[in-house]
Amino acid sequence: MSEFDDLYQAIILDHYRRPRNRGTVPDANVRVDGKNPLCGDEVRLELRVDGDGRIVDIKSSGHGCSISQASISIMTELLKGHTFEEGRRLLESVRAMMKGGEVDEEAMGELIALRGVSKFPVRIKCAMLSWTTFELAMAEFQAGRNGAGAVVSTEDEK
Ligand code: ZN
Repeated sequence: MSEFDDLYQAIILDHYRRPRNRGTVPDANVRVDGKNPLCGDEVRLELRVDGDGRIVDIKSSGHGCSISQASISIMTELLKGHTFEEGRRLLESVRAMMKGGEVDEEAMGELIALRGVSKFPVRIKCAMLSWTTFELAMAEFQAGRNGAGAVVSTEDEK
């Protein structure tokens, strides 16, 4: 097991040190913010979504602990070029994994590296912040809004 733990730790640190898809999307059509007051993690997500609900571009900014930052970096890599529908399936899988459920490891990609977090309730919020924020972005876009002023807090999560 510890070999896997080391591998997962290495994936998390790699994303933390060299975060993917950082920055802004100048022609974004939805921008939302998320925060995790328990840890002080903050994220802004900017997405360019086309008419078919496909995420053409996605970037993040903000700051936080290694778990939250790695989670955002991995998430943006998995979502870019994919549809909201595919994103929602991944979101449900991450939620299930955080509750200790069985998941399709192949479909999860590097997200599997965050599995160990499920044993630490406080850190689950760090790992879920990016996904909760993405969920808000989908809701805003699908309601025809651009996300202006929309903020989600992990404190509101059940
Ligand atoms: Zn955190």
